[in-house]
Amino acid sequence: MSSLQAITFDLDDTLWDNQGVMLKTEEGHYRWLLEALAVWREARQESPLTLNYEQGVTDYLHRRQQWAQRVPERRGDFTWLRLRALEAQLESQGLARSAALLWAAGAMNEFHRLRVQVTPHPEAAGLLATLAERYHLAAITNGNIHLKRQPLASYFPVAIAAGELLAPKPDPKPFLTALERLNVVPNRAMHVGDSWQEDVLPAQQLGMHAAWVAERGDQALPARVHRIAHIKELPSLIEWLEKRS
Ligand SMILES: [Mg+2]
Repeated sequence: MSSLQAITFDLDDTLWDNQGVMLKTEEGHYRWLLEALAVWREARQESPLTLNYEQGVTDYLHRRQQWAQRVPERRGDFTWLRLRALEAQLESQGLARSAALLWAAGAMNEFHRLRVQVTPHPEAAGLLATLAERYHLAAITNGNIHLKRQPLASYFPVAIAAGELLAPKPDPKPFLTALERLNVVPNRAMHVGDSWQEDVLPAQQLGMHAAWVAERGDQALPARVHRIAHIKELPSLIEWLEKRS
């Protein structure tokens, strides 16, 4: 192969484990909303909402699913879906539209505050700093983490929120957008990610190399695809690839 010029990274479950943060964020921002709203209504001598946490989150999820069906091009734009769902839920609870918009935005502010509290793998920052000396780097995520506030943001001059492009991975658009911004052709680039469907296959089909981050996986790997158990194995994979070029 010709030598690599760019490396693109998935974020969630590639550069950090996401599950714990997502659970805390999911619960935390909704509890914040209910508590803050209760205080606000009490101060205005308005009756408390009839909504409790369990009913509220179930209804919130249901409304997000409905919005995703109603506006399918927004299905991967999770912030947009959450905002619409919260606004509609609060209006259904009797809040004026202006108040519903404000409180939904406030809840999503809290969501993003919690969502960026990810803990990157200890090797990640050093790895990215070293790679940045030789390669153009980009982040491509389907998640709605705030791309400028996430802890590894400074390593990614190009960062793509695929859902906001209305083209979540496996759509090739976010990969092509990242490569275009880096001015690198696909076969001189590698994508690193944990999802076979959303990271590995689309990158491989575009002609990129792909590093699949998976502890296990015994399927036959197509051309240009390599499995690593953890991103700490990336330097030796890259070294091996560069030697073959
Ligand atoms: Mg991922």
